[in-house]
Amino acid sequence: MSRPGVVFGGSRGIGRAVSQLLAQRGHRVVVVSRNKEAAQAAAESLPGGEHLGLSCDVSKEEEVQRTFEVIGKTCGTVGYLVNAAGINRDALLLRSKSEDMVSVLHTNLLGSMLTCRAALRSMLSHGGAIVNIGSLVGVKGNAGQCVYSASKAGLEGFTRSLAKEVAARNIRVNLVAPGFIQTDMTAGLEKEELVKRIPLGRFGEPTEVSQAVLFLLESPYITGQILIVDGGLQLAM
Ligand code: NAP
Repeated sequence: MSRPGVVFGGSRGIGRAVSQLLAQRGHRVVVVSRNKEAAQAAAESLPGGEHLGLSCDVSKEEEVQRTFEVIGKTCGTVGYLVNAAGINRDALLLRSKSEDMVSVLHTNLLGSMLTCRAALRSMLSHGGAIVNIGSLVGVKGNAGQCVYSASKAGLEGFTRSLAKEVAARNIRVNLVAPGFIQTDMTAGLEKEELVKRIPLGRFGEPTEVSQAVLFLLESPYITGQILIVDGGLQLAM
């Protein structure tokens, strides 16, 4: 069996769709989220056997370290890493609470740095591929999402720099920047007005993002790229 793919935020939404696609392609998948039962249930629902569901809060260094120790012992060296764990606490900056700012930055930005660092130790001798999930908002900005967009823009700089750092070790690092995707994160949005701005006229499905993630994971000559998956929304911004 091939080296495992580890999907942080794999229990729901975009991460879950990535886990599905990886499993369909014959990869062993490690699904990670804070909620252990949800991670295990998602892992058990995947096609093929020997998938693993683990609990870890990406914003906590010790939990990330422990998770990679468990993965190393049970599944061997990591082949693919996907960072889809993320939260939003949307508010105008004037109304944003400091604790929410810290949570968003620690989960979306620091969390991906911690998982990448831990995965690299495992990938250094055999190569590998990483895809971080950013956001169109990180590229274009959006009123009411200053902190969230800063976390995602930071992830872009991190992705490009890390790609340069580790290319010589045959490790590729790319980022997918989705627009509006139908998941729990966007469930509370008033969609009617928003879809009018999207050239393709609808929110995207998680599976449409997972296709882009798999493309980048499997493309041996692409690194340091930002791939926008947004139904054309960027054209209207
Ligand atoms: P979602 O349905 O809310 O799923 C988020 C996933 O991340 C869940 O598995 C969640 O599980 C996990 N998670 C959250 N905080 C975590 C933490 N501290 N440690 C570990 N796991 C954590 O969200 P989604 O829409 O699929 O979003 C996935 C990624 O895409 C996020 O980075 C998001 O910012 C980005 N994105 C989404 C959209 C969109 O329109 N949906 C657009 C652009 C970018 P637990 O709660 O159990 O931890």
